[in-house]
Amino acid sequence: MNIDSIHNGVVIDHITAGQGMQLYALLGLDALDVSVAIIKNVVSHKMGKKDIIKIDADIPVDFQVIGYVDPGATINVIREGELVSKQTVELPDRLTDVLKCRNPRCITSTEQELKQIFRLTDREKRVYRCIYCETAAK
Ligand code: ZN
Repeated sequence: MNIDSIHNGVVIDHITAGQGMQLYALLGLDALDVSVAIIKNVVSHKMGKKDIIKIDADIPVDFQVIGYVDPGATINVIREGELVSKQTVELPDRLTDVLKCRNPRCITSTEQELKQIFRLTDREKRVYRCIYCETAAK
């Protein structure tokens, strides 16, 4: 694929250098049958170096995952070759089904149908806690 000419798709820009692969995995992009390019260590005036993920398919991307991995990343949506939206993601207040509670006695380990929900309890230190048992995600 020509990575510079996405017709319909999503470009995640301004990813902290080195975070591109983690984001790729957490977004579940490896499981999808779409063209994805991860460009690492792109020279950026603003950031020194950055990673970029280009998805050549009009798929929904999970903004909360991107905000969790890399607040400050930019999501560009491209339709018919035009940039239709550009937004910066922030650290989300809540994460649903992104993290798994590691407390074996948590209700989510027995009640499998419960959603795994974590809330941000310390924005500075980026601490998320399970809403059921208050265990911090690492
Ligand atoms: Zn829990």
